[in-house]
Amino acid sequence: MRHVLVSAALLLQGALAFPFTPAHPIARAESLRQIVSNLTSYLSPEAEVHYPNDTEWASLLIRGSSPRVYPDYSVVIEVASEADVQLTVQTAYDNGLPFLAISGAHGWTETLNRLPYGIQIRMRKLNTTTVDADGTTATIGGGSLQWETTRALFAENKQAVTGLCECVSIIGPLMGGGHSFLQGQHGFSLDNIVSARVVLANGTLVEASNTENPDLFWALRGAGHNFGIVTSFVVKAYDIASDWTVYSLIYTQDKLEQVLELVNQFENGTLDRPAKLITTGTLVRIPPLSDDPVLAYTVGYEGTLNETAPYAAPFLALEPLSTQLNTSVDFVELYTVTQNNLDAQACTRNNSITGSGVSLPSWKPTAIRTAYNIFANYTLDPRFSAAVILLENYGMDGVYAVDPNSTALAADERKNPIMTTPIIWYVGNDTDTRAAALSWVGKVKDALYIDDESPRHTYVNYAIGSESLQELYGWEEWRVAKLEGLKRAWDPYNAFAYYNPLV
Ligand SMILES: Cc1cc2nc3c(=O)[nH]c(=O)nc-3n(C[C@H](O)[C@H](O)[C@H](O)COP(=O)(O)OP(=O)(O)OC[C@H]3O[C@@H](n4cnc5c(N)ncnc54)[C@H](O)[C@@H]3O)c2cc1C
Repeated sequence: MRHVLVSAALLLQGALAFPFTPAHPIARAESLRQIVSNLTSYLSPEAEVHYPNDTEWASLLIRGSSPRVYPDYSVVIEVASEADVQLTVQTAYDNGLPFLAISGAHGWTETLNRLPYGIQIRMRKLNTTTVDADGTTATIGGGSLQWETTRALFAENKQAVTGLCECVSIIGPLMGGGHSFLQGQHGFSLDNIVSARVVLANGTLVEASNTENPDLFWALRGAGHNFGIVTSFVVKAYDIASDWTVYSLIYTQDKLEQVLELVNQFENGTLDRPAKLITTGTLVRIPPLSDDPVLAYTVGYEGTLNETAPYAAPFLALEPLSTQLNTSVDFVELYTVTQNNLDAQACTRNNSITGSGVSLPSWKPTAIRTAYNIFANYTLDPRFSAAVILLENYGMDGVYAVDPNSTALAADERKNPIMTTPIIWYVGNDTDTRAAALSWVGKVKDALYIDDESPRHTYVNYAIGSESLQELYGWEEWRVAKLEGLKRAWDPYNAFAYYNPLV
């Protein structure tokens, strides 16, 4: 109750706090509860409203990295229909209330903490996935998680380009890119969206596609979190042609440069890299295996063991410490075999965890060795011993095939085949530990850029919130200028201001 009163008082400040000083939203001297109560009578019967004194409240606030990312809400509205989203957004607009849509609750950037109070628009009830009549597309709800969509499609022998971790939403990764197992074949997730239904800041519903509101559609694909709430969207659906073969390899640290040089050769054309090949790894401590951090590396291929063998051979020739082979892995099992499933460490919630991504054109031996040495050092500290450095590299043929100017996505995202991210799970949530973790992340990032002349680029969905606009949205002046112009046109009051905001 105390929280609600505070929020009601903040209402007045809220009108002033909107970055664009809106002309319309004069916060009324009505309590938030009154405003929401008026709204509730118009919502669908399945919608639910929760306040801080409800028993469910704490669970509705849990996020992937809750202690670090903690947008503050006065009320949670679990919307159950597109009209619910419209009505809730319109109410927020009319009353100058900030709001934030939540689907997977795995958003990582600390800019989300700028939501000072307001409405959490919980999208999870919009979680349907349907293969469309002609079988070439699927319609997905704006609150669907990856495991829901992957399994619904799999039941019809279909797959779509979603992200990797089962616990994350489809739309969250998609609007910033969407790296995945299938990107080598079909491009990023955002390259596969056909159309979207979008609720704008004033509650208006619009369709966005290459033919309807194409400028909004352009912006949604790369900077979408800044433009609206997607209630549903249509993506390309593909027939599943084959199971996968997956090698899980562990190398001692002395093989690091050799393994990553192999990856360079696959990327620069020295070795043939088929679009169906995925290579990805982590630097991690596995104490029973080695006193030093090891390189856990995955080589996967959508095909049989015989088809995979030529691509796995050079990795096996480097004599991993351990080799595990999984054959006939179906697309759902693939998430478990590669530790991206709901039970995997990455999907646990309420974690003290931080990190920020680095995209690179190729692996540089001095850089990776320096980063490794720093990592080996801080993971000796028991507070940081569960940290990893991700070494992701899923193939780029499908990504290169798309004109970089045809979507808002930063051109560097399409150019750089390597995505590497220091991720630190830390024990303790005190200021010193958090600051130390962040400082190690910065040191590893600096090291990874050694011998790299290109301007820094961080995948917008792996950003922590302190990166520059150019680092996230691209160094081409025209691209950021175009995005800023579209932002003025489509969200003039900057209601969507909390996810690596453009303004
Ligand atoms: C464990 C983990 C695994 C990840 N795996 C991948 C991966 O495989 N590939 C990849 O590319 N990225 C991945 N990411 C990064 C991921 O893309 C971002 O963290 C993404 O923002 C998560 O979306 P979410 O819906 O889960 O989070 P949320 O916190 O719910 O949402 C993130 C942002 O999207 C907005 N949003 C949510 N739903 C909607 C909607 N329907 N319409 C409009 N805006 C909406 C929210 O308002 C918020 O600003 C991963 C992150 C984590 C923590």
